[in-house]
Amino acid sequence: MTAETLPSQTARSEALFARARAVTPGGVNSPVRAFRSVGGSPRFIREAHGAYLTDVDGNRYVDYIGSWGPMILGHDHPAVRGAILEALAGGTSFGAPGEREVLLAEAVTRITGAERVRFVNSGTEATMSALRLARGFTGRKYIVKFRGNYHGHADGLLVEAGSGLMTNAEGGLGQSAPSSAGVPEEYARLTLVSEYNDPAALDTLMRERGHEIAAVIFEPVVGNAGVLIPTPEFLAALHRVRDAGVLLIADEVMTGFRLSLNGATGLLGLSPDLTCWGKVIGGGLPVGAYGGRADVMDRVSPQGPVYQAGTLSGNPLAMAAGLATLAVLEADPGIYGRLEAYTSRLAEGLKSAAREAGVPVSVNQIGSMLTAFHQDAQDGSVRTYADAARSDTAAFARWFQAMLGRGVYWAPSQFESIFVGAAHTDAELEITMEAARAAYAGLGERV
Ligand SMILES: *Cc1c(COP(=O)(O)O)cnc(C)c1O
Repeated sequence: MTAETLPSQTARSEALFARARAVTPGGVNSPVRAFRSVGGSPRFIREAHGAYLTDVDGNRYVDYIGSWGPMILGHDHPAVRGAILEALAGGTSFGAPGEREVLLAEAVTRITGAERVRFVNSGTEATMSALRLARGFTGRKYIVKFRGNYHGHADGLLVEAGSGLMTNAEGGLGQSAPSSAGVPEEYARLTLVSEYNDPAALDTLMRERGHEIAAVIFEPVVGNAGVLIPTPEFLAALHRVRDAGVLLIADEVMTGFRLSLNGATGLLGLSPDLTCWGKVIGGGLPVGAYGGRADVMDRVSPQGPVYQAGTLSGNPLAMAAGLATLAVLEADPGIYGRLEAYTSRLAEGLKSAAREAGVPVSVNQIGSMLTAFHQDAQDGSVRTYADAARSDTAAFARWFQAMLGRGVYWAPSQFESIFVGAAHTDAELEITMEAARAAYAGLGERV
């Protein structure tokens, strides 16, 4: 490695991090940004354009986070910027309805087939509200989620959530402990946990407790334990939960408008009762949404008795960014094929570079999502949280730092997906592969 390829100046990031730690817990406003699982000092980002991030020290990185999913068109896309500027000229918040909310709701229902949609401000609000609605609709208390799936940080969903420490079942079938302090056991007890990609376990849970369960919520493709791809048998079992009067809730906050125009639902042929969206739907501004069957959604206030509200919900700037993003995606049907092509070339490149260096890596990739697990399982065979957890996180951390040092900003955790956007071209793929070959070779030498 040569000095001029190294983004080694980090003095300004380090100084900002020190100031941030004095005034904000851990110095960040969302935990994974702190680089705890890979070590080192997080880079403070000054600006982002296309496929690149530039930090406050002036280092430039090929970006594989895309703000954790929203930036499917790349940063600072002219259509999105233009739409935000146009909205800005008309004022930033009304606390009364406006046309953009109707336009975005029409776009979402047209694209997804949902009959009704309600906008909120984050993915967390979307899942939290969808579950309240499911309970209000069914009159049942319990919900089911899957080990290692993340649905935002509402109390009842911080149970066996993502890369948190695993706790074993206590107190009966499906019962588990909270994965955060501050979540009362009583709340956690209402969340039953089953194993992802285990249709038999879900069938058993439904047989024994289906009559008490309001909803099953799931990531149709998991991104939050690293990428895990569902088997057809598991998807079939998910759809069978409706036989017990249980609502099926697809959490498409990460996958919606990303894996296809109609998300994982379109790609995998799902038919959920309710769907949650976030990330891409806001085009980089804070938007979440939930929607689906009219008979269920019409239970939401003021139409129905299930309360849910938001001072900034349907915000004109946020709606404008979402509308512009969906308009670009809808007008360019080839975009998903191009994202897939780039990402599968990236997957093949990583596999062969790792193989040449003698580093064990198992790649899961679907559409523009990818995780390279540092373990010697066959490609595509990591299917559950337990499988993912067998990865060598220390090796991943060294590889991550080597990539960052060569100007490639990968997701700073082994248990996250990376996100490819439409601004990634052959030039970025070349930079990435050159960095990856060197990073794997560096790991290989230490073995
Ligand atoms: C990111 C994410 C959420 C939470 O969304 P926020 O906007 O961060 O609150 C929920 N579910 C899934 C699947 C996600 O990836």
